[in-house]
Amino acid sequence: MENWLKKRSQLSAEKIALVYQDKHITFSELNQMVQQLAGQINQQLTDQRPVAVIGNNNLITYQAILAVHQLGLPLVLLNFRLSVRELNLQLSDAQPQLVILDQALSNQISPEQLNMPTITTSELTRAAIKPFQVQAEFKNDQLADIMYTSGSTGRPKGVMQTFGNHFYSAIGTGLNFQLTDQDAWLCAVPLFHISGLSIMMRSLIYGLTVYLEPKFSAQRINELLSHEPVTIISVVPYMLKKLLAALPLTQHYQSKFRIMFLGGGPTDQQTLTACQQRHIPVVQSYGMTETASNVVALNFKDAQRKLGSSGQALFPVQLRIDHPKNKKLGEIQLKSPTIAQGYLNQPELFQKKFTPDHWFKTGDVGYLDADHFLFVKGRQDTMFISGGENIFPNEIEDVYHNYPDIQEIVISHESDPQWGAIPIAYIVAKPQAQLSTQTLTTFGRQYLAHYKVPKKFYLLKTLPRTGNGKIDYRGIHALHPDVKQLLSN
Ligand code: ATP
Ligand code: MG
Repeated sequence: MENWLKKRSQLSAEKIALVYQDKHITFSELNQMVQQLAGQINQQLTDQRPVAVIGNNNLITYQAILAVHQLGLPLVLLNFRLSVRELNLQLSDAQPQLVILDQALSNQISPEQLNMPTITTSELTRAAIKPFQVQAEFKNDQLADIMYTSGSTGRPKGVMQTFGNHFYSAIGTGLNFQLTDQDAWLCAVPLFHISGLSIMMRSLIYGLTVYLEPKFSAQRINELLSHEPVTIISVVPYMLKKLLAALPLTQHYQSKFRIMFLGGGPTDQQTLTACQQRHIPVVQSYGMTETASNVVALNFKDAQRKLGSSGQALFPVQLRIDHPKNKKLGEIQLKSPTIAQGYLNQPELFQKKFTPDHWFKTGDVGYLDADHFLFVKGRQDTMFISGGENIFPNEIEDVYHNYPDIQEIVISHESDPQWGAIPIAYIVAKPQAQLSTQTLTTFGRQYLAHYKVPKKFYLLKTLPRTGNGKIDYRGIHALHPDVKQLLSN
């Protein structure tokens, strides 16, 4: 395929590509800015190794991501919320020749702390330009980027995504959403995660406008959705809850807004029902970094009758459930042109993700109903067994989300001599909440089998989260005893 940015700037030169803090930038302007920055990056390069970008959601990060591709090099996208130690681990895994560090992050990361050659964006934009050959083609099997998974569990994996992965992903989503260049996609999810990067790719492929937000502020996003011609926003469950909580009953999103695109994790029924009551067009989806964004999504027409489902597999995607012994539940397995090339430096681990007949094992458990709608139950790696029964933490979390005094809850487990493991809960309470183990237990027993009801409840001020807002299960296990308070009877 022809270089996407070049092609798009020819096809849609005057169309707005990007809106950032009241700046409206056309595709032609964006292309010029990116080519200039690419020349400045080129001045720093020595070979064909990847270039890493650590940046906020802002104009310079957006340009830097596109610029690396103009030079024909793979990107390494790193999460700026990681500690310096974690960043250095990922850098030594990815071995980029250069790190581009957003100047806006200077108060939290300094170039000297990173053990790879690093240039800040303010140095970079003052550097001389070294002319280069603009990458003519984006090939299907060409490595576009290395992106580390959220790390909900275990050591983060550097997922190698190709241009073909991004292209098929954009086509699958485009067919499902009927994307056109009249769409405007609000991006308040991080550009270093697939949720954000995939919006950039769709913008080039469909000629749609991106509204880029530097951070997630529920009030500001609600304003934008009410007053700007945004048609789609990507959110993860906690963002949706915050938007809902901050939206006054008298305020409504403007009429062009058509998709609240929800992905990244399970959502409780209460939030979904509240969205329906407020006519917020939530589209649930399911996907992962390894599949270059969503592979399953629910259509509007089905949202009501299939509440709680993540939807049907997108057009380019094959999906099956691997049933153990006629059980309805099983592992979700996929074949899709969006499945990444591998995990960087961990080929054996990636190999293990495939069945002998070449289906990708997602590690998630779910079932398909008679109409081929997927219901995701949870992750195999957070599932645990108590007295011989499988327990999926998110099923329990779902129930407790309806408890009025609970702001947030996450279920984990502790080992237990009698049952093998027992469920325990970490709760962030609402202000002035009156919680006791007894009332929480009684509540749980109304809706859950007794073995699923948490045996201990801990109070926390906040839940540890990964860079894109997901619960950090490793962080939960590693919590210092001082920050958690065992709830009394
Ligand atoms: P790691 O693989 O390092 O543990 P991660 O799996 O959290 O990190 P991502 O690739 O960002 O990193 O997340 C994909 C996962 O998110 C899926 O495998 C699934 O477990 C969960 N997920 C995504 N969408 C949904 C959904 N609609 N319902 C339930 N879970 C979902
Ligand atoms: Mg994963």
